[in-house]
Amino acid sequence: MTGAATGPIRKVVIVGGGTAGWMTAAALSRAVSADVSVTLVESEEIGTVGVGEATIPSLLDFNRIIGIDEDAFVRATQATFKLGIRFRDWGRIGDDYLHPFGTHGRDVAGVSFHQLWLRAAARGETATPGPIGDYCLSHVAARLGRFNRPVADPSAVLSTLSYAFHFDAGLYAAYLRTLSKAAGATRVEGRIAGVVRNAETGFIDAVTLADGRRVDGELFVDCSGFRSLLLGDALGVPFTSWQHWLPCDRAWAVPSTRQGPLTPYTRATADRAGWRWRIPLQHRVGNGHVYSSAYSDDDTAVRALLDGLEGTPLAEPRQLRFVAGRRERLWEKNCVAIGLAGGFLEPLESTSIHLIQSGITRLLSLFPDRSFNPVEIAEYNRLLLREYDQVRDFIILHYHATTRSDSPFWDHCRTMTLPASLADKLALWAGNARLFREAGELFTPDSWIAVLLGQGQRPTGCDPLVAALPVGEAAAFLAHLRDVIGRTAAAMPTHETFIAQHCAAP
Ligand code: FAD
Repeated sequence: MTGAATGPIRKVVIVGGGTAGWMTAAALSRAVSADVSVTLVESEEIGTVGVGEATIPSLLDFNRIIGIDEDAFVRATQATFKLGIRFRDWGRIGDDYLHPFGTHGRDVAGVSFHQLWLRAAARGETATPGPIGDYCLSHVAARLGRFNRPVADPSAVLSTLSYAFHFDAGLYAAYLRTLSKAAGATRVEGRIAGVVRNAETGFIDAVTLADGRRVDGELFVDCSGFRSLLLGDALGVPFTSWQHWLPCDRAWAVPSTRQGPLTPYTRATADRAGWRWRIPLQHRVGNGHVYSSAYSDDDTAVRALLDGLEGTPLAEPRQLRFVAGRRERLWEKNCVAIGLAGGFLEPLESTSIHLIQSGITRLLSLFPDRSFNPVEIAEYNRLLLREYDQVRDFIILHYHATTRSDSPFWDHCRTMTLPASLADKLALWAGNARLFREAGELFTPDSWIAVLLGQGQRPTGCDPLVAALPVGEAAAFLAHLRDVIGRTAAAMPTHETFIAQHCAAP
């Protein structure tokens, strides 16, 4: 009987075969011993959400864990490289900034680089330091449309480049499916119609399929998407909505033909009641419009998407509905929810796949036995829930840090009451530009700096300790760094050339 039992887990059942399900299967089937079965149940009839196509650099760690050959992966998924996200019209209409991956400059004598830059910018000297993005290699390369892989030598500027991918979600799931099956995972096709719970412990014993088959397990991973079949429906773990902070609840998505050069960045353009994404792939462009149904009707939203397309649509626009938020717990009894079954944060910073990965790696580090130690379950929940909350704050920042007043949507975002955690962070920034990274926090101060400055949030001062660094020396250091970064980026191949030479799809 699960829950009161002892001994190792022998049967893992993953419910759902979207990105979450197959990423989980790929990682677990490699990590567990040969006598543990990993079974994934999915339903072709129900299908997947199929839109998660932009990622962040942490995916490289996941690829390493599951032993992916990067060039083969890029080829198989028609992927492109991503150096950051270009934000248009967020702080005000006409604004255009980049949130790059990687770091800005480097700290000097214990003083953060951005403090040095802020002092130089505030002095308004003749040799102005230029935008802070000029001190980040990923930023400069993205603007120039260039790409190269970083080198390991920490003394080389090229070691500071950081990147992720854009890929075709359908091809990615198929790719992971092949890897998982090769590693021993079993796929069961069928629609789950019921969940069998142990009368004594309330643990899940099995799922039953519409055709009467039964799949028994000891550990269940709920990757059933927005339906949250196990954690939400069967175990009744409540959902906490964050809609008051993140009012967007719908999206239209449409693929289009490629037009122009292959940009190594995602584009996010703010609109009157949300924002539009553009994700370049080798064979097409992914486009979407995320919007709030409280501030825009569906027809207006789909028209805005189609009017903004740069290529020709390749399919009819598809609508998706969601609510920002997460379950109160992500691991309950013998069920862990990973992916949309656990929560959803809109794709503004491409964080959903990262949160899937984080759920998987934490599950591996707290992999249970059949006693399901409550202390370990509580730790998993503490770590994951905190991570969701931290990502939520960073996304809210983009909406709130604006002077836009051209629509009721932006009036709401500009004037809303913030979560206390975010309000505190902004107060620390507003004075002497203090930024601290909490333990386990995904977004580094470099990310916050890019968005805060990109959206016009200039602090009133800077770190008093900057005064210890002579102005002339600091100016020479900045000029040198900017020059080296500019030259390094200019020497890289174009993004298109790099792909053609290393990993073009056939
Ligand atoms: P799904 O893809 O919905 O998979 C659910 C699975 O469960 C399917 O296989 C389905 O068949 C199965 N299932 C459900 N019910 C049953 C049943 N009764 N019986 C059997 N099987 C069942 N993330 C990013 O990281 N980057 C992005 O750019 C990004 N863009 C997004 C844009 C939008 C508009 C949305 C809504 C999401 C976006 N995401 C993005 C999130 C990303 O799409 C998801 O995190 C990712 O696809 C994982 O989804 P999933 O596997 O949890 O769910």
